[in-house]
Amino acid sequence: MKVEIIGSGVSGLCCAHAFAERGCEVSIIAASDALDSTCCSWWAGGMLAPGCEGESAEPLIATLGVESMAFWQAIAPDYTTAGTLVVATSRDQPLINNFARNTEGWQRVEGKQVHQLEPDLAERFNCGLFFTDEAHLDPRQALAHLINTLKKSGVSFEQRQIDDAPGNDYHSAADWIIDCRGLGAQQTLTDLRGVKGEMLHIHSDEIALKRPVRLLHPRIPLYIVPRAKGVFMIGATMIESTERTRASVRSVLELLSAAYALHPAFGEATIIEIGVEARPAFTDNLPRLRRRGKTLSVNGMYRHGFLAAPAMARRCVEFALDGIIPPEVMDENTA
Ligand SMILES: Cc1cc2nc3c(=O)[nH]c(=O)nc-3n(C[C@H](O)[C@H](O)[C@H](O)COP(=O)(O)OP(=O)(O)OC[C@H]3O[C@@H](n4cnc5c(N)ncnc54)[C@H](O)[C@@H]3O)c2cc1C
Repeated sequence: MKVEIIGSGVSGLCCAHAFAERGCEVSIIAASDALDSTCCSWWAGGMLAPGCEGESAEPLIATLGVESMAFWQAIAPDYTTAGTLVVATSRDQPLINNFARNTEGWQRVEGKQVHQLEPDLAERFNCGLFFTDEAHLDPRQALAHLINTLKKSGVSFEQRQIDDAPGNDYHSAADWIIDCRGLGAQQTLTDLRGVKGEMLHIHSDEIALKRPVRLLHPRIPLYIVPRAKGVFMIGATMIESTERTRASVRSVLELLSAAYALHPAFGEATIIEIGVEARPAFTDNLPRLRRRGKTLSVNGMYRHGFLAAPAMARRCVEFALDGIIPPEVMDENTA
């Protein structure tokens, strides 16, 4: 069976992997290079945090997330299960209790335990929540590895912009077209919106973190994800906008101030990169599988692309090849 995948972000690559594993002849078409800064996946934090995300997401995200983590563990060279530490300044302690009320899978940690987990934070934060089973990865490394694996297994890549504006029907000889264009599919998926995220990469040798740390704040919740060699990803704003290129001074100031509040050593860090993208999201912020003829759209990953894409890819393949309808993510015409 021939399968054409449009888009080489995390959704497209995970779908390609799932179809190739089932013996399909898979080709990927993407507007940009297989992996570059023009797709949302390039800017992700790489947190695999089904417990923490439960604070604002439906339980479906945790279900998809737990399933997806097994995929990343098998595929991503730097997959690390070190949990997530959630902290707040002494003034914002009530936020910890709120967070605890709305989530599962945490342990309360205090004093010595915070010190054992993150010695560099123990002076400023003496209590928090520890989500023991959560993981993180470097998205760029993980996707580059996935691309290599796909190429070795015979998946072809082509750089081409697909224009499916009304009147420009897209024709393909493939048995299935899997549309994973993220926000690029807005013309077709008219209820898709953008949620802008700004992030930074900084470098510091003054501070070490072993795991993602979330700093709760009434206005600017922040997370920091450690990468290799003293690099940290600081994220991320959540702004209702499809604007994908402009990082505002306010957002960058707020992210940096929050990092400084987490540890003053971040004040001496070097800014390596400021990134902006808009997350593709439906109104309820849940991912969807939708069918139009022989086209299946996998979209709406919102802030959960890495957390949800492998599990969505499995559902997509099972629908296309076995006719199994996944009602939890499929809400339209399945004929
Ligand atoms: C700052 C930030 C931090 C994030 N952190 C996390 C995190 O920690 N964990 C997590 O799980 N998620 C995170 N996310 C969310 C995650 O990045 C997205 O959910 C995910 O990247 C969406 O992937 P996608 O493959 O659907 O879309 P994209 O990555 O945008 O890929 C779309 C692909 O389609 C192609 N394309 C578009 N239009 C066309 C066209 N007309 N023709 C051909 N090709 C086309 C593009 O070239 C690209 O290859 C974060 C997002 C942001 C912005």
